[in-house]
Amino acid sequence: MDFPLNCVAKWLILYSNLTYGLMMKIYCPKCNWKPKKRTRWKCLCGCEFDPFENISKCPSCNYSHEFTECLNLECGKISPHLNWYSGLDNNVTRLIYEVKMGKKNH
Ligand SMILES: [Zn+2]
Ligand SMILES: [Zn+2]
Repeated sequence: MDFPLNCVAKWLILYSNLTYGLMMKIYCPKCNWKPKKRTRWKCLCGCEFDPFENISKCPSCNYSHEFTECLNLECGKISPHLNWYSGLDNNVTRLIYEVKMGKKNH
């Protein structure tokens, strides 16, 4: 499943995390490198931030970064930000299923 980086995708990530507690594993889709909790990426505006805290939106200039660079020195590849969320497809499938079945788990 491919998602454009847009409001719907952002909503799905936040909604499935917060409402359903489906925590997605985050790692580089190219080399499986996992960012540590306090890893910081640098925005073009100079601000350093964690792109996985707010779906790659810089807290300083509010720019949404569509791509995220791997900070593993042996990799360094750039991937679409949403591809870093490994369980996203499954969560979306589950949400669609639950909506179809009219289920609510809370
Ligand atoms: Zn990588
Ligand atoms: Zn910025």
